[in-house]
Amino acid sequence: MKREKCPYCGSLKTVWRGYRYNERTKKRMRLCKGCGRKFTARDRFWRMRFSEEEILEAVSLYNKGYSTSEVVIHMKRKHGIKISRWTVICWTRRFS
Ligand SMILES: [Zn+2]
Repeated sequence: MKREKCPYCGSLKTVWRGYRYNERTKKRMRLCKGCGRKFTARDRFWRMRFSEEEILEAVSLYNKGYSTSEVVIHMKRKHGIKISRWTVICWTRRFS
């Protein structure tokens, strides 16, 4: 798990501390042991097991007119990652 800096004091001594929910997403919260403040983990690519490059590539393929299943096949063949067609749609909504 990547270390995340506290946005308030810059300390790297931060730990996962539960979740905050809103109507659409579940955001992970972190607690800074340096200053004791809580903050939301940076989440543009939260919970992603994939790299930003892979996600953006899938999104751009989809936007070029490839179908979701073609994108799924491409990502599996080229990057060896398994995603669902729904994942492609989610990524496209979030990141394009
Ligand atoms: Zn802090």
